[in-house]
Amino acid sequence: MGVELAPRIAAKVRTGLSAHCIDLRLDREGRLLQVVPGWGGGVVATITCPDHRPQMATVMPGIMKIIAPLEREGEIKEVAFELPDGDLGPEVVEIKRGEPEKLPLEKAEVVIAGGWGIGNREDWRMIEDLATALGGAVGATRPPVDEGWAEEGQMIGQSGKTVRPNLYIAIGISGLMHHVVGMDRSKHVISINKDPHADIFEVSDVMAVEDFRKIVPLLIKEIRSRLEG
Ligand SMILES: Cc1cc2nc3c(=O)[nH]c(=O)nc-3n(C[C@H](O)[C@H](O)[C@H](O)COP(=O)(O)OP(=O)(O)OC[C@H]3O[C@@H](n4cnc5c(N)ncnc54)[C@H](O)[C@@H]3O)c2cc1C
Repeated sequence: MGVELAPRIAAKVRTGLSAHCIDLRLDREGRLLQVVPGWGGGVVATITCPDHRPQMATVMPGIMKIIAPLEREGEIKEVAFELPDGDLGPEVVEIKRGEPEKLPLEKAEVVIAGGWGIGNREDWRMIEDLATALGGAVGATRPPVDEGWAEEGQMIGQSGKTVRPNLYIAIGISGLMHHVVGMDRSKHVISINKDPHADIFEVSDVMAVEDFRKIVPLLIKEIRSRLEG
């Protein structure tokens, strides 16, 4: 595959590193094809490393589908060894447990993501309440992170995390490419946006053209009553 590389990406390939890949393939000659977002996410480029070995790539957590069950099995060999007492490394004096970690975004089967359309910190609680009701994790676009409604680790997209949950609910999110590359492999996408022409609808299975404030409280109420009943 002939690929024209921008100087910035070409330089990374020469050092054996690529930008975070969104797909990896091998061509017939066994060359690794690395599919990466480039130029601020405006294009998707396929790059190769023709001259130097080993070929290396980094991938964002969650971007690759895990193929199970793995058919290959390794051979377990028992190797005898002796470890002198002084070589045991650090001694554990005390274990202090921190706050239990929230459900990691990349592992959540349900992700409720909010965008700039949520409007303020107070209404952001509706996103958190919906996530709690559904047992899911909260994700965000960049503006809510910039505003401090959400944490940096909750950002989904090109500069954030990649998720592929069973259900992704996008609320008040326009669907710009920088965000969509981090969620468009979700199995089912439901979007709520008051703009009927919002780009997020192009990657959605169910669309609600409405002010989220009219829908989300009803959703939370309905889910809670079903769980309780
Ligand atoms: C290099 C680069 C990297 C970036 N990386 C990322 C990234 O990783 N992740 C990311 O998310 N962004 C990223 N961005 C920013 C990205 O380009 C967009 O600005 C961002 O995704 C837009 O977020 P948004 O959809 O929440 O906001 P907006 O685009 O402002 O959309 C808000 C939406 O809310 C809707 N809305 C408003 N009020 C309501 C209401 N009451 N009810 C329902 N809908 C309503 C509006 O119709 C609108 O569609 C990056 C940008 C750059 C330049």
